[in-house]
Amino acid sequence: MAKITHNIHSIDGLDILYPGHKVVPYILEEGQHDLTLIDTCYIEELPKLVSYVNNNGYKMQDIRRIILTHLHSDHAQAANEIKKLTMSSADSKSGTSSGNDGATIYAHWIDSAFLSHSPIYHGPPDINIYRQLFQKFGIREEDVIKEFKKLNVDPIQVDKQVKDGDFIKSLKVVHTPGHTPGHISLIPEDQKLLFGADVLWNSAQEGGLVIPPSYFTLDMVTARVSVMRVSQLNFDKLLLGHQDELILENAQEKVQSAMKNMKHRV
Ligand SMILES: [Zn+2]
Repeated sequence: MAKITHNIHSIDGLDILYPGHKVVPYILEEGQHDLTLIDTCYIEELPKLVSYVNNNGYKMQDIRRIILTHLHSDHAQAANEIKKLTMSSADSKSGTSSGNDGATIYAHWIDSAFLSHSPIYHGPPDINIYRQLFQKFGIREEDVIKEFKKLNVDPIQVDKQVKDGDFIKSLKVVHTPGHTPGHISLIPEDQKLLFGADVLWNSAQEGGLVIPPSYFTLDMVTARVSVMRVSQLNFDKLLLGHQDELILENAQEKVQSAMKNMKHRV
């Protein structure tokens, strides 16, 4: 876990299906024993997330809010399991609830519907896309299944559905559709910082900031408009869901110049 600002940490080292790639959830301290978790991970990676939290002097029960920036499995799969851990009392190994309801799960109202499987989401990536990518990267599907057990997300009941402009404690919701229909970014009201999730990836291989490709993004044109929109927001630091490097200064300018150089790609 890396401390990024006085009250924001990244949780690093959480694997996704593609070797060498990670997903980065973030923790925002809203107060003592009052944490917001932005995104989760694959269930099989959850022990790593729990030990990050515990090794930094927190308990899972300190997580009061779980915000899912979008419905993709690498960001959302462990949400139900994390919620359960936030309910159980510290000394109980029985898994029974200590009486509190656990963390509140938040997501945009559009992705909330898909997260509850009503309706089922048919956007990318589907199993055929995964198979193409496994082939491309020389990965055996059975090895992935062995490691991650499953690729899909079980139904998640979102407790509070949000829309553009809403606040979740100190975080302002910015609807940034395209990657998924209800993808959101978040801005803490007291810091010049943007949690961009998958609005962009920062990929060394791709030469910096890029829109996630169409095998992960539902609508490339809308995704581009969302990047245009966030490029007008006032922020110095950009924290993404997938990044080879943190952008901790001049982030807005970097997004604007990436926009200019961005070719329309599919
Ligand atoms: Zn995604």
